[in-house]
Amino acid sequence: MNGLGGGPIVAEVGIRGPGVGEDWLRRVLFLILWCYLLPPVFGLSYIKLSNLMTSGEIRAVILSPLHAAYAAALIVGTFLYFRQYLRPVASALEASGAIDPAVLSDVDRRIQRFPGRFWGFFLAFLALAPNVVMLVAVLEGGMQPTWGVWIRLQLVAVIVSIIVGLPIFFLMLDRFGEAVGAFGFERVYFPLTRRIFLIGALVPLLIDTVLVQYYWTRTGYFTAEVLGLWAVVEVVAVLGSLLFVRSFRGSLSPLTGVFASGGSGLPDGPLIARSTDEIGLLTQAIGRLIGELRERDQMLEAQNEELTVSNDELVSQRQALEDRLMEVEAYNDILRAVAEGEPAGKVLARIAGHGAEVLGASRAAVYSAEGISGTPTVIWGRREGGEAGAAGGNEAERVRRLAERVLRAGRECVLPADQGDPAPASPASARGDVILGAPIWVQGKVTGALIAFGVPGREKDREKEMGGDDARRLGILTRQAALAIEREMLQSRIIQSEKLAAIGELVAGVAHEINNPLTGVVGYADLLTGNPDPQKTARMAGFIKQEAGRCVKIVQNLLTFSRRRDLALEPISINHVVRRAVELREYDLRTSGTSLLVGLSPEPGFVLGDENHLVQVLLNLMANAAQAVSGRPADRRLEIQTRWEGGWVEVSVRDNGSGIREEILPKVFDPFFTTKGVGEGTGLGLSISYGIVKAHGGDIRVESGPVEGSTFTIVLPVRATRPGQEAVRD
Ligand code: ADP
Repeated sequence: MNGLGGGPIVAEVGIRGPGVGEDWLRRVLFLILWCYLLPPVFGLSYIKLSNLMTSGEIRAVILSPLHAAYAAALIVGTFLYFRQYLRPVASALEASGAIDPAVLSDVDRRIQRFPGRFWGFFLAFLALAPNVVMLVAVLEGGMQPTWGVWIRLQLVAVIVSIIVGLPIFFLMLDRFGEAVGAFGFERVYFPLTRRIFLIGALVPLLIDTVLVQYYWTRTGYFTAEVLGLWAVVEVVAVLGSLLFVRSFRGSLSPLTGVFASGGSGLPDGPLIARSTDEIGLLTQAIGRLIGELRERDQMLEAQNEELTVSNDELVSQRQALEDRLMEVEAYNDILRAVAEGEPAGKVLARIAGHGAEVLGASRAAVYSAEGISGTPTVIWGRREGGEAGAAGGNEAERVRRLAERVLRAGRECVLPADQGDPAPASPASARGDVILGAPIWVQGKVTGALIAFGVPGREKDREKEMGGDDARRLGILTRQAALAIEREMLQSRIIQSEKLAAIGELVAGVAHEINNPLTGVVGYADLLTGNPDPQKTARMAGFIKQEAGRCVKIVQNLLTFSRRRDLALEPISINHVVRRAVELREYDLRTSGTSLLVGLSPEPGFVLGDENHLVQVLLNLMANAAQAVSGRPADRRLEIQTRWEGGWVEVSVRDNGSGIREEILPKVFDPFFTTKGVGEGTGLGLSISYGIVKAHGGDIRVESGPVEGSTFTIVLPVRATRPGQEAVRD
């Protein structure tokens, strides 16, 4: 009979750990030892009882060195052999955690082969033992046995082997059961049917043999007939035992099918009991359990399917939410920029950048018909920290043409891709991507458009979409653009009214400034009239000239102030402007002990400006800075830097001078505001500079503190990529 089921599996069940293996090995070896020690005791007592040998002969056998040597060699040899054989099992039992599969399969093999090894040794020992005893009795006790005595001695060995071997073997099986439980093997090592066979065959053999011995001892009579009868009874007992085994195997067969599936997965088909005993009941119970498990399996599978479906839904919902979040963040970024007062040009670049992002377009641009500084402007997309695009010639022209269609349509629309374009702008347009456009309404008037290029999808589908998400997104973006433009308009209106107020101040200021020298002039002119002294006359004429000169200076300043709108715009290099201003002031600064540091970054584009006016602005800023640092005993520094960011250029003039007090910071750009004494400052420098920069569509900012000095920054839009090539000209 073979073991059932598959190979070993690695599992951590049962109790394993230090001491467990050693203890187990000691107990098994102890049982083996008893198997070899008990038979001589039983055997010799039995021989004495049944008068097979005399006391003298038995004593001779016990005291014989030959017999002692045989017994000792056999017992020690067997003990050492089994200790060696079972050592790996014991060490595996000691190990904690998962065991190497190779080790586990070795353990499995050793446990499986153990019964064969044990019985092999034991039966060899019992086959030899009666003959050795007989030999020693003949040689050393002078015994002369008949053939009958010899047979009876063999029978004694049989009896002893069953009485000692069988129970001890079963005890040993229990020990191995413990070990196997600890490893979690899933196979049958010693089938139930084999146990039944052993009991069914050996117990009748024992009874039968004892009876024969008893009969023989009592009658002293033994024939071949008795021996024959003994053998027949024995054969019948073995046959009967085989019958039992067959019957048991029948009742076990449904369960055997379960083991055959290797313990993993459920056997196919129902489990039907084959007997009326406990095994039958067990089979039914297991059958029911398997049925339930199968149902639960199916239920789990169905639930799993449902879960997979809802998981897919969740994933797509999450994607949609993420897209929405990205959109909201984009709108938020634009609004924040508007709220923080970012110049409209920059906000529009931001809107175009985010527009491309939320519409999934390859890029986008905003077209402003009136522009930020009065001329039509195209502003390419710029995201936070991303690339911005200056409006190039052809591209800008293309945007303008598309925008005009949108302006005429007055609503969101799908524009035919690359119409009138010699070459597609991007490979995407070859895939049938479309261009979307939406008008920007400011105060009831269409003033510009947002154009998104390379929006994926076909024209027809997109037209349908126009009622949905696309229209919504375009609507929000264009409203935000309108907001930025309106804010800028509002700001310029505020500035306008501030200017009116400033004119009032200016007139008062001019009147005051001119009044003093003029009073002097009139006074001296009066005195001059009829004064005969030529020396006095000359002195008074000198005074008149000096005072009139002050008036001329004031008027000159006023002229610069008023002329700022007559700008001669042309593409110029801002670095060149800086170099010119520096050339003019360098000598002065050096002689006054001020170090000048100029950092010019490479120029990616040009501004559209009036060179002389911009040089004037820089000269004003440098003059103020030089005055501010003059109060320092040493380490007077002035730094001028240019920097490009997207479609804008920045020029900063930084000094480490006195700084500007917080309370006067908002007033420094006002006309005639000055903190300097008479003759030192007119209070017109910054006001003039402000006007010039604004007229260039730019901005001027100031940051200042008492410790770090002041930094004036001019921001101007880049309008051309090289001289002679302007962004957009109507
Ligand atoms: P002015 O220089 O003739 O006074 P401005 O319009 O150029 O007129 O400057 C106005 C005021 O701003 C100055 O009087 C001064 O108080 C302040 N100011 C300008 N630039 C600086 C600077 N670099 N450091 C400190 N204060 C400055």
